[in-house]
Amino acid sequence: MSEVKQHGRRRASLPPAVIVDTTPVVLPSRRAALAAERAAPRPAARSAFLHGASQKVGLTLAATGLVLTVSLPATSGTLAAEETPLVHEDRTVSARADAPIDFAAPAVASSLDADGRLKQTLKVEASHVAPAAAKGTLGAPLRSMVPSSPFGQRVSPITGEVGETHRGQDFAIACGTDVFAAAGGTVTFAGWHPYGGGNRVVVDHGNGLSTTYNHLSEIKVTVGQKLERGQVLALSGTTGASTGCHLHFEVMVDDEVVDPMGWL
Ligand SMILES: [Zn+2]
Repeated sequence: MSEVKQHGRRRASLPPAVIVDTTPVVLPSRRAALAAERAAPRPAARSAFLHGASQKVGLTLAATGLVLTVSLPATSGTLAAEETPLVHEDRTVSARADAPIDFAAPAVASSLDADGRLKQTLKVEASHVAPAAAKGTLGAPLRSMVPSSPFGQRVSPITGEVGETHRGQDFAIACGTDVFAAAGGTVTFAGWHPYGGGNRVVVDHGNGLSTTYNHLSEIKVTVGQKLERGQVLALSGTTGASTGCHLHFEVMVDDEVVDPMGWL
């Protein structure tokens, strides 16, 4: 509570735009306006804010029309928030109910190279891999894995919209940090993603499995390049529709997103 007050008092003397997010990136004005529009008719959120911070700050915000800040779920400032979803669809594809479980894969993992278990698992199409076999086959894309916003339905941190599908798993990470290939594969995309991903790299691991890395500050690979598991492919960033430094990591099976945590 006291932290909130300190934030409020400190921020109150700054220009209004700075209050929008505690991350160093200021939202584009169009989005901010949209968020304000959506946030305005929510007395509950405003009330919660007034109880959570000093009345003085709350009233100042209300008077300047900046109550939009209270509707953003990422006001803690510790975890970077997110991007606009590319498609609002509810997809929870992971594996068919009758998919065979590859019992052999875990047993041979230790005797194979780092990518061995994944290769073993992907002897069948990725869409046929059961959850138990998929778990743990991908390597960590970051040296420090701090999950923030999870895959699936959520409230948009940018628009305040309820029920958007978050197409990947976010990890809180400073900008400029090494991002690693989660497994060996071939780069199929390296460039600007026009639907919010910013600088984005896509790696194809074969048999219908691919991973994507988004909001990157710098891309270090090119299309067609073969990557080893753990190879640096980019530096983390906050490009595209993102409100702060983080990695948006996606796992795709036959070009449809699935929960990355099911493969990590
Ligand atoms: Zn994300």
